[in-house]
Amino acid sequence: MNPIQSLFQELTIPRNVVITMHQKPDADAMGSSLGLKLFLQKLGHTIHVISPTSWAGFLNWMPGCADVIDYERFTGKADQIILSADWIFCLDFNRLNRTKKMAEVLSKAPAIKVLIDHHQEPQTEAFAFGVSDTSKSSTAEMVYDFIQMTGRADILDLDIAQCLYAGVMTDTGSFRFPSTSASVHQMVSNLIKMGLQHSVIHEQLFDQHSENRIRFIGHVLSQRLRFFYEYNTALIAITQQDLIQYDIKTGDTEGLVNYPLSIQGIKLAAIIIDRGEERKCSFRSKGSFDVNTFAKTYFNGGGHFHAAGGHSSDKLEQVVSAFIKAVQENEPMLA
Ligand code: 5GP
Ligand code: MN
Repeated sequence: MNPIQSLFQELTIPRNVVITMHQKPDADAMGSSLGLKLFLQKLGHTIHVISPTSWAGFLNWMPGCADVIDYERFTGKADQIILSADWIFCLDFNRLNRTKKMAEVLSKAPAIKVLIDHHQEPQTEAFAFGVSDTSKSSTAEMVYDFIQMTGRADILDLDIAQCLYAGVMTDTGSFRFPSTSASVHQMVSNLIKMGLQHSVIHEQLFDQHSENRIRFIGHVLSQRLRFFYEYNTALIAITQQDLIQYDIKTGDTEGLVNYPLSIQGIKLAAIIIDRGEERKCSFRSKGSFDVNTFAKTYFNGGGHFHAAGGHSSDKLEQVVSAFIKAVQENEPMLA
């Protein structure tokens, strides 16, 4: 993978560009992709943003989101666009298999592939150019840096600012995680000086939920939360029936895993959700426990040191048992 700077001189020639992100995109994946799209569009490129799957409704306010193509719904059209692209930018994921069913067409596409990402252990051989930096708070911050480095920060506008702010705010846990560096605050300072209304974005992302979701959280915290105090660990296991009963949509479960982590002494919090087609796991930690390694070792996953995820095709009860066993094996790091 060559440094992304080598691409800068090419930016003056209009290209057909695809921008894509990890499956079930969060605000960082969607915000960084749309921020980059709006920037490259202003430079004269033709851009298609393709998401490997559907996304949470609370991202729909983002400028440009209405034109994002859902690969699972429009596979044929998306395949054509991907196969005829000059460049494919891959944002907020480290390995092509994070795009699920899209991975195959991405690998065979003749386009120049460019990575912008902050996850550990990137699949560098899959990309011709790119930047991978695990010290960065978010991919949105990296797109902001990219725009600065191209020397065209003069065209950064409010729409781009909103997309990038959404990404950096959510990936830093509203500016509380250790990744919230001085440069993150510098970036936000610059966006606010441009006129960004930051509290409106916070409301769009966090204060637009349904009554069902709040009742679902109540149900989960009272009925589905278990503690393993000898391992300073908490686990939430959610059944398919729970999701149906409360009419839970993509994105409604986001952030739930953080509740048990707010309890004194808890070092590891996990959530396992039976989504029907698979069991999805999320892991969060405080202090010295590395959930990236944990997710990779036991749950076909990965992510960051303090926030990672994985998945399994086993039944929910089996995944729960596997989790308990994995926690026991990690006793020296957790107890
Ligand atoms: P979440 O738990 O919010 O889904 O994800 C937390 C972090 O772990 C994110 O950075 C996400 O990209 C990563 N992650 C989540 N699920 C997986 C997975 O199945 N595989 C890998 N490699 N990373 C994941
Ligand atoms: Mn991210």
